Amino acid sequence: MDFELSSNHKELQQRMRDFFQKEIAARAARLDASSPQERQDIMRDNLKMLSQVGYLGLGIEKEYGGSATDFVSQCVSGEELARVCASTFVSARASAFLFAYPIQSFGTDSQKKTFLPDIAKGNKIGALAYSEPEAGSDMEAVQCIAERKNNGWVINGTKDIVVNGPIAGSFLVFARTSNNAGDMPSFGLFLIDRDTPGLEVGESLETLGLKGAPVAGLNLKDCLVSDEALLGGRPGEGKSQLEETLEKGRLSLSAMAVGLGVACMEMATERAKKRVAFGKQIGRFQEIGFKLSDMFTDNDLGRMLTLRAAWAYDNKEPEAGILASCAKLFTSEALTRIANNAMQVFAGHGYVRGSGIERIFRDARFVEIAEGTTELQRVIIAKSELDKYQPH
Ligand SMILES: Cc1cc2nc3c(=O)[nH]c(=O)nc-3n(C[C@H](O)[C@H](O)[C@H](O)COP(=O)(O)OP(=O)(O)OC[C@H]3O[C@@H](n4cnc5c(N)ncnc54)[C@H](O)[C@@H]3O)c2cc1C
Repeated sequence: MDFELSSNHKELQQRMRDFFQKEIAARAARLDASSPQERQDIMRDNLKMLSQVGYLGLGIEKEYGGSATDFVSQCVSGEELARVCASTFVSARASAFLFAYPIQSFGTDSQKKTFLPDIAKGNKIGALAYSEPEAGSDMEAVQCIAERKNNGWVINGTKDIVVNGPIAGSFLVFARTSNNAGDMPSFGLFLIDRDTPGLEVGESLETLGLKGAPVAGLNLKDCLVSDEALLGGRPGEGKSQLEETLEKGRLSLSAMAVGLGVACMEMATERAKKRVAFGKQIGRFQEIGFKLSDMFTDNDLGRMLTLRAAWAYDNKEPEAGILASCAKLFTSEALTRIANNAMQVFAGHGYVRGSGIERIFRDARFVEIAEGTTELQRVIIAKSELDKYQPH
């Protein structure tokens, strides 16, 4: 057994850390406080910079302009980015993973050639739109409908929370492809360019945290797309394509949680050493020191679970999907505890806008909610345990 990262992983981690610290970290606070227009400009710029260091192409195959690294590499790099700016992590992930992964895994050769090189270079920004006002955890409840007409599809519906909505050039839109009573439900993912007639991007939405990540809803009204728009070209595969994407996505959300956890640790530890009360560094009070112990333990365990799941994917272990659920469940709940502990170390001065820990506290809450809530992860893990149980 070996817990050491390989020399390649360590080199990548250091290169990403140095770059993010130099180019992205200083912009995080400004991004958080920016107006919708400023936010879009800064994020476009940030994504372009990430392409220069190869971050956007980490999961994209070499023939399509990426570097096709393993999941462990993607996790160690993602942790470093989330540590300095969670909004930039989320926006980059929406384009380079949520949009690009399904194209790479299920797209036709022509779809891969059309989209992936531009995503890796940061010339195009992508987004995935599946949630609707009446459908989130329950993706089969989507009302957005794509109907077959002549040699294409006519799409009607609404998507309500889409990261990169305001800046994306193309969207992957999840829609049902059959609406007849008695039919088995059938779904598709459709590649739709922003300027397609009938597609309208809504106003920028304000969120509790991740304020730097541009978010908007979509409205599709008689939006006509060609046959080429259907991901993979075969109807009926959209749900399994989306499920696999979200399953692997749990890994990157876990890396995000660990990165935010590191940021909390660093800030809280510095504060615990610098702040003096009753003539003592507050970290020397057991109540504060023990918070640092709990934070460190939670985060280190979370990183181990995340890398274990990443390693399992890289080694094609059948348990990889469940391990990714365990990692997301643990790291997201751990992060909520860690951010809460960090805020308590700062107390009143942390609660004030602009304190730094206040931004991370707001950003942190996202991970328990996103793409398979903690409740849903428990449902998935419990089902897997019950299904595989065999009496001795
Ligand atoms: C900042 C942000 C960015 C987002 N970005 C995107 C994006 O880019 N694209 C996109 O399509 N969506 C996006 N989303 C939406 C996100 O994926 C959904 O919010 C998430 O999947 C949860 O769905 P919901 O909010 O509809 O909650 P619901 O599904 O309504 O769930 C509400 C509560 O009920 C619980 N619940 C539901 N079903 C069960 C069950 N079977 N068992 C136990 N408990 C259950 C949930 O755990 C939760 O606590 C984003 C959301 C946020 C906040």
